[in-house]
Amino acid sequence: MAFKHDNVEDLYEIGIVLGSGHFGQVRQVTERATGAQWAGKFIKTRKNTCSRLGVERSAVEREVELLQALQHPNIMALKDVFESRAEMVLIVELISGGELFDFIAAKDSVSESEAIAFLKQILEGVGFMHNKQVAHFDLKPENIMLSDKDAEHPNIKLIDFGLAHQFKPGEEYKSMGGTPQYIPPEVINYSPLSTATDMWSIGVITYILLSGMSPFQDDTDEGTLKNIIAMKFEFPEHIFNMTSDLAKDFIQKLLVKDPSERMTAEECLIHQWIKPLTRKQIANRNRSSINIKNFKKFNAKRKWKMSYNMVWMCNRFMRLQLLCRQSSAAVADLRDCESDSEDTETKPASLMRRRLSSSS
Ligand code: ATP
Repeated sequence: MAFKHDNVEDLYEIGIVLGSGHFGQVRQVTERATGAQWAGKFIKTRKNTCSRLGVERSAVEREVELLQALQHPNIMALKDVFESRAEMVLIVELISGGELFDFIAAKDSVSESEAIAFLKQILEGVGFMHNKQVAHFDLKPENIMLSDKDAEHPNIKLIDFGLAHQFKPGEEYKSMGGTPQYIPPEVINYSPLSTATDMWSIGVITYILLSGMSPFQDDTDEGTLKNIIAMKFEFPEHIFNMTSDLAKDFIQKLLVKDPSERMTAEECLIHQWIKPLTRKQIANRNRSSINIKNFKKFNAKRKWKMSYNMVWMCNRFMRLQLLCRQSSAAVADLRDCESDSEDTETKPASLMRRRLSSSS
């Protein structure tokens, strides 16, 4: 896909803010020629290597390359890319149904069968990318959205491929990226990663979906990471009393320390909890339900933390900006850094380094 150098505003009318990430905002945009609605992901890019603010241009190019290769009904589609000196804008499919977890938290009861219908779509999207040797590496509730929550069967859309990676044959790839609650032992140990890393995250997401409890979470990130390394998780009876045994078996086959022993997305799709073989299994699934009371509590806390993190990022940005001003007064070489901050004065949260605050 050729990157356009036009001014994005000549071709699209920029609308409301839909969400914010570490480096920019996502806004609703209207294509002037057709009136069609899209989402525009505005990403601040670094001006030079000394610049501390913004994303490396090459990282955005990688995200674009991956999205182009991943055309699937359960993966956010990419339409166009614009680039200018300080910013790149990805025009992507508008996903208007919000986050899956918010959709579920608004319900009074959800059976395992209903939860499975969503999980199946997540597995189909993830299976598709894994077949192309792409791992997402940041699967978490914030990145699982719905195209239209009013549809009879809402469609899952996976977003945010900023940490994704396509493996080359025989390549060894390590990374410390991700969000503590959802990362597997191999990320913490800085061991080679694979598509199995995503499968652990799906195990954590399923555990939370059914119970409203996060399997390894502690009061501090350090404690959470320790619990992951120690593989310290269980299914407390008072929380999981509405959960089927097959659901627990499914999770247990994903929260496995050795990545090569974890179920793959394809194996998950034929696990008997997802694809029941007998009438009894189907009946069990329909009878079992998610712990909606606990799930609502978990989701409310998660949303509160997300807004807290955003405020924290803004404050940190203000301090960074001050620091930049002081140093640029003293050191002429840092003038570029100051101009970074001038460009983005109105969007403070957009400038923080990715993952700086990735907390559980
Ligand atoms: P982070 O720094 O947290 O990784 P990011 O800068 O990569 O984030 P995204 O996670 O892609 O940005 O998007 C930020 C938020 O914008 C999302 O959490 C979501 O609420 C919203 N969003 C992203 N893509 C879309 C879309 N296509 N349609 C509607 N809303 C979207």
